[in-house]
Amino acid sequence: MSEGNSWGGNNWSELTRCSCGLRAKIRTSWTLANPAMRFLGFPNYGKNGACGFFSWYDPPTCARGRQVFPKLVDKVAALEEFVNEVARLEDVVQRYRTRQKWLVITLISIMLLNGLFLLQNS
Ligand SMILES: [Zn+2]
Repeated sequence: MSEGNSWGGNNWSELTRCSCGLRAKIRTSWTLANPAMRFLGFPNYGKNGACGFFSWYDPPTCARGRQVFPKLVDKVAALEEFVNEVARLEDVVQRYRTRQKWLVITLISIMLLNGLFLLQNS
């Protein structure tokens, strides 16, 4: 499968090698400064003795995109928090349901034992 973009063409990353001769993998930046920007990631990037070759794969994000992206990140974070809270509340409800079930079983048992006791003593 090949990845294309509007200016680099297909298989560009496969043809691009850094000064060490290593092949790039397309990775995605999730920083606020470079939202969802793809770049060529080389296996040795940032390591000691590596060539330091770096290249963006996508053209720069437009001003509007940079303005909107942090808001989307905030919304995703808020939704994740909400989903976690719902999951936590579902756990609480499940625990109460289990407790309620045991309470009903206990009450029925007490009533049956009481009935037996009353029968024996009548
Ligand atoms: Zn290199």
